[in-house]
Amino acid sequence: MTGLAVPTQAPGGAANPYVTAQRQFDQAATLLNLDAGMRAVLREVRREFTANFPVRMDDGRIRIFTGYRVQHNLTRGPAKGGIRFHPDVSLDEVKALAMWMTWKCAVTGLPYGGAKGGVICDPGQLSRQELEHLTRRFTSEMTILIGPESDIPAPDVNTNSQVMAWIMDTISMERGYSVPATVTGKPLEIGGSEGRASATGRGVLVVTEAACQRVGIAPHEATVAIQGFGNVGSVSAQLLHEQGFRIVAVSDVYGGIYRPEGLDIPALLAHRDAGGRLADFAGTTQVANPALLELPVTILIPAALENQLTMANAARVQARLVVEAANGPTTPEADDIFRQRGIVLVPDILANAGGVTVSYFEWVQDLQSFFWEEDEINQRLTRVMERSYAQVEELAAAHKTTLRMGAYCLAVQRVADATQVRGIYP
Ligand code: NAD
Repeated sequence: MTGLAVPTQAPGGAANPYVTAQRQFDQAATLLNLDAGMRAVLREVRREFTANFPVRMDDGRIRIFTGYRVQHNLTRGPAKGGIRFHPDVSLDEVKALAMWMTWKCAVTGLPYGGAKGGVICDPGQLSRQELEHLTRRFTSEMTILIGPESDIPAPDVNTNSQVMAWIMDTISMERGYSVPATVTGKPLEIGGSEGRASATGRGVLVVTEAACQRVGIAPHEATVAIQGFGNVGSVSAQLLHEQGFRIVAVSDVYGGIYRPEGLDIPALLAHRDAGGRLADFAGTTQVANPALLELPVTILIPAALENQLTMANAARVQARLVVEAANGPTTPEADDIFRQRGIVLVPDILANAGGVTVSYFEWVQDLQSFFWEEDEINQRLTRVMERSYAQVEELAAAHKTTLRMGAYCLAVQRVADATQVRGIYP
């Protein structure tokens, strides 16, 4: 987990992510000719839950925290989506992230709907005990929603396998028996899956390689900048590095480092794991987060938060390929600028779907109490990502549109078809 002392600031101000998500949906609904009733059903979230709950701090004081869990859609299966701890969490952000989860699960063909959760807090300012108490109490507030058949959380920004273990334990204690399938991204000791920790980054690798083929980029000649060096960013860096891509810049919330000749990623990971700050990694130049996005690189991978690529900076992005490892890093205005400039963008609902895909494998393994080996997981993950990428590319070509709209067409049509065949209750 990353200590967060500095709240993030989006270049060009923060667009409302839910407005962005709805604008993207509207575009796809128009391309697909969805009727007005179906549009109305799919462009709103189904359930939104807010809890204001007390936590006893280490000094004995009681503090009230606010957390959200939003379920956008449950038509194709239980709701699925991560839980984020961050000072900038808002209900609209969680609603957007929940909607994106619906499309992500549909793009990859997973039998899930979409959900997301978040607690407004700065985990860098909480002790481990305070974090545990906060997690357990928020989980307890959410028990009316979550469970293996209804809604299955997972890690997201500033949450990790330990947080998932507390969630699993809290639900299990309240039920009176172990319920491992209630949450994914757990430690292996309690029903976690091999390959889950690296799954999102592995999915990013698969789609980056596929997109490179399409754009005509040779991996060994490509330079890469990655914004965000947490679970997704650092694993993406490691796996891309292993495949011969030259990672020249990475950053975290405090800023970035740049080395045009390429960063020694294994050494950087060891430096980070030993508690070192990125800025102290020898032989590199410091680069601020906004400047990292505009570096002269072949591939740009935003792997931090929303609203990083906006109309304020999209014209200055030099990459030929943008791979959205983060959710919602690009506003619709920046999307337009990239399209006009011929920059290919692999959208979040496809690019970072590796995480939820292996979460699905974890849930299946938990339900069957039968566990697979890492090789098998990675092979199945690669197949899902390659198949999804190919389907998205095909639809984008058929509709003469971007990969984002290709992915939306695939996803929205699947959810619309499921809604149609189920009908409107009662
Ligand atoms: P994380 O908490 O592990 O890491 C986040 C990283 O971003 C940290 O290095 C942090 O310092 C950095 N960061 C925060 N604000 C920043 C800023 N303004 N500029 C640069 N760096 C900043 O989180 P994560 O799980 O790696 O998630 C990153 C993104 O990927 C999020 O958008 C998340 O929703 C998405 N995502 C995560 C998963 C997953 O499996 N964890 C799956 C799909 C999508």
